[in-house]
Amino acid sequence: MSAWTIAVANHKGGVGKTTTTFNVGFELSNTYNVLLIDLDPQASLTKDTGIDIDKHIGNVLGTTSRGTISMKDIIVEIRPNLQLAPSSAELAATDLSLIARQNNEAILLEAINEVDTLFDLIIIDCPPGLGMLTVNALYASHSVLIPTQLDARDISGIALFIDTMNEIQSSYGECATLLGILPTITDTRTKQEQTFLEALRERPDLKLFNTIIPRTVRVREARTQHLAISEYEPTNPVSLAYQNLAKEIIDRGTN
Ligand code: ADP
Ligand code: MG
Repeated sequence: MSAWTIAVANHKGGVGKTTTTFNVGFELSNTYNVLLIDLDPQASLTKDTGIDIDKHIGNVLGTTSRGTISMKDIIVEIRPNLQLAPSSAELAATDLSLIARQNNEAILLEAINEVDTLFDLIIIDCPPGLGMLTVNALYASHSVLIPTQLDARDISGIALFIDTMNEIQSSYGECATLLGILPTITDTRTKQEQTFLEALRERPDLKLFNTIIPRTVRVREARTQHLAISEYEPTNPVSLAYQNLAKEIIDRGTN
């Protein structure tokens, strides 16, 4: 069996993609064998795990020509049942040079195909923006989870992102389908955020998750200690929220 691949994507930065990838990956690794792929040249996910890296995903994908090593060569275990394909700032060179390659939408998929029988789930932390790395992530994935803040600008951006998914589908013949939209870094005590949440709930096409991720300073504290929020403070509402999200993801995947 090959893995179910989920891209955590939004062209906007700072919406909780990396935090969601790490924390939901951590929760799912209690039950499943999970691979996290850091596809962002900012390498926040890699830095959050605190590991020292040697080889990275850019070495696998290559630049103007194919990479020289395989995904298997870069994967490191960060927890039991939780592995990471790390990134580095050098991945920026890949992003810029993929455009000149043939079948340049399928380069990540080819790399994943070498390892996908080893995992139940693969979760890709996408870079911000709509460049070739994001195209590769959406082409390689079955599903896409879109984190968003409850802010008017972020929400109107979701329509743009969904348009891009449709363009990828028509240009390349394959694209992840929407798994759901996840409100992150929320403070639903504010009337404005509550209004946005209601508006999202009225759009069944957006497949809003029931789980919403509250804002708490504990997230940053956990990150600086290279811990998942459940490891840092198991009773924190954000820990519980990511546990619920993991259940919802599995429910949606099996229905
Ligand atoms: P992205 O990957 O989309 O750029 P991040 O996951 O890096 O977003 O999150 C952006 C910033 O918001 C980071 O500083 C992170 O620590 C912070 N953050 C993420 N989730 C939460 C949360 N639930 N509560 C408070 N801060 C958060
Ligand atoms: Mg990020």
